[in-house]
Amino acid sequence: MNFNSHTDGVVAVAVGLVNALTAGEARGRPHLAPGGEEQAAAATQALRIGGRHYAEVTAEEAAELTDVAAALRVVFESVARGDADEAARQVNTLLKETDARPHLDRHDGEPWHLHFHGTGGTRAGDWAASCATALAVVLGGDLFDRLGVCTAPHCDRVYVDVSRNGTRRFCSTACQNRVKTAAFRARNT
Ligand SMILES: [Zn+2]
Repeated sequence: MNFNSHTDGVVAVAVGLVNALTAGEARGRPHLAPGGEEQAAAATQALRIGGRHYAEVTAEEAAELTDVAAALRVVFESVARGDADEAARQVNTLLKETDARPHLDRHDGEPWHLHFHGTGGTRAGDWAASCATALAVVLGGDLFDRLGVCTAPHCDRVYVDVSRNGTRRFCSTACQNRVKTAAFRARNT
């Protein structure tokens, strides 16, 4: 599945930011929101999910991105419980707050592609605007229900389902295997 390659990349970053920076549970274990230097490292890693080597995130940017991640999480959770209206409301709020403005950009030998900038020219603001816009593209399309929250026990990490048939239910193969193993044990005891 492909919204368009840039949107796909930014949605992947949104997933990465939520999973790295929001507290909850991950693959059967508590997931504490990172702090201090760990927070900046986690945020940097999330931005680089698309394969680009972005500069290290500063502590200030990481704190801002952590707020962004919390706001993005609401979108995934709303879609996961079938509340597309709430998801749309949240995305519209984010688009407004970030003042997302389309801007054609060309760099690193790539063809022209659409970026979204926020107010103030801060990196976290630009990412917030980009993530909000990418989620708006997803929610506004036929595949709006492809955002999800892991259904494995003790996991609330999020995902975007890019499979052809759209049957993904887990954040990772780790969770898929945990559930499979549990089901197997339940059948054989
Ligand atoms: Zn999971």
